[in-house]
Amino acid sequence: MKRTLYLKLLLGYVLFGLLGFLTVSTLTSHLTLNYIERQTIAGLYRESNLLAGSYASNYYRGTMTLEDIKLQFESIASYLDTDIWVVGNNGKILISSSPDFAADSLIEQFDISSFGTKYYQKGTFFNMFPEKTLSVFSPITIEYKVRGYVFIHKPAADLVSFKDGLLNISYTTLAIIFLCAFIVLVLFTFIVYLPIRKMTRAVKDYSEGNFDTKIDVHTNDEMGYLAGSINYMATELSTLEEDQRKFIANVSHDFRSPLTSIKGYIEAILDGTIPHEFQDKYLNIILFETERLNKLTQSMLELNKYGAKGSMMDISDFDINQTIKKVAQSFEGTCKDKKILFELILTGQTCIVSADMSKIQQVLYNLIDNAIKFSHPESSITIETTEKNDKVFVSVKDSGIGIPKDSINKIWERFYKTDLSRGKDKRGTGLGLAIVKEIISSHNENINVISTEGVGTEFIFTLPMARKENAL
Ligand code: ATP
Ligand code: MG
Repeated sequence: MKRTLYLKLLLGYVLFGLLGFLTVSTLTSHLTLNYIERQTIAGLYRESNLLAGSYASNYYRGTMTLEDIKLQFESIASYLDTDIWVVGNNGKILISSSPDFAADSLIEQFDISSFGTKYYQKGTFFNMFPEKTLSVFSPITIEYKVRGYVFIHKPAADLVSFKDGLLNISYTTLAIIFLCAFIVLVLFTFIVYLPIRKMTRAVKDYSEGNFDTKIDVHTNDEMGYLAGSINYMATELSTLEEDQRKFIANVSHDFRSPLTSIKGYIEAILDGTIPHEFQDKYLNIILFETERLNKLTQSMLELNKYGAKGSMMDISDFDINQTIKKVAQSFEGTCKDKKILFELILTGQTCIVSADMSKIQQVLYNLIDNAIKFSHPESSITIETTEKNDKVFVSVKDSGIGIPKDSINKIWERFYKTDLSRGKDKRGTGLGLAIVKEIISSHNENINVISTEGVGTEFIFTLPMARKENAL
């Protein structure tokens, strides 16, 4: 499996670290050094001004000796970690706080104008220092005349090492941020990445038709919810696939057996295995099987109509009592043969419901057909209507073979027939109740069955009563 998401994340993390390090080592370093320089120059300038205005001018006025001033300068220089000089206009060093430079020595090529308009300079200060030095000066003015200068020198390396000290703090902070980001990365791995990987794997399995894989994510967040939804979808898909497989197996089986017997009998008639005098009997069997095939095809077409949810409903108000009577009449012939009696217990004269009449006729036809098929001869079938709230309850009850307990939930499935009924009805396709269920469901109504094996069966379904103002 490709792990591009995680790789991207890791790459992002490493890039974040690298960019952080680069920023601190270049931009932050540069900005910090600039800041330190500005602050140091300003501080040293304030100091040199002070020294020029107080101690140094006192020398020129003759109120302080060079020795006194030197002592003061030495203590201030050591406190500031700098070199403090007093230099005459001609470049002669009058005072130096550092023993490296003797008083009275001359600064070669001393030219204060080389500072330009600035009061500081970065360099070797007229080649007096071996390394880069920051030199800040203030003129010593007495009676509007410049008599000399106070210079404060600080090695540039001091500023750099101060900056490095500060940068170390930035590096430590960066390392802590990097560590925090790592914790976020680990959390992300467990909370988001691993569940997503599990889901991707499972979905890949589903796409290959293997619906057994379950996603083991039970967190109480969006991930857990998504995993639950995918698991649910997989279960639905697997049942759908299972249903489809069963459906095709059943269809093939139901088509194959009549076709095999038709083929067998026709071959036997053609090659003379069945003599002329018996041919009628076998042609009748062929007719029977052909009718069965015809019924099967019709029922399947019917069911397909509902399954596709494309069947248009033609809702109208009609009298259900009247419809029941009409459907029951159509079974008169069969009932006579089996000596079965209909008992109709109908509410009042009329009972107006709002439904698709032809479809409800089909429901009644299928239920009564079953009741007759699975009833014993000389028994009775009760059809009853009752009104309750806004509903009409229609019940078709027989005292026939009943439905075994473990089959009761399966009778609605396509092609399902109980073992009990197989002997009684060879023509049945097992599609009748599936059609009934689809019709009732498409009316948003319910159908229930109560049955006891060997005692009888009762199917009860509901229909909406027509609104009073619409009633006939
Ligand atoms: P078809 O309706 O296509 O002729 P069928 O009657 O066998 O075939 P369904 O109407 O779907 O199919 O019924 C499914 C099964 O439920 C029947 O085969 C039978 O086993 C059982 N069944 C349905 N109604 C009754 C009943 N009134 N008494 C006993 N068993 C029943
Ligand atoms: Mg039936």
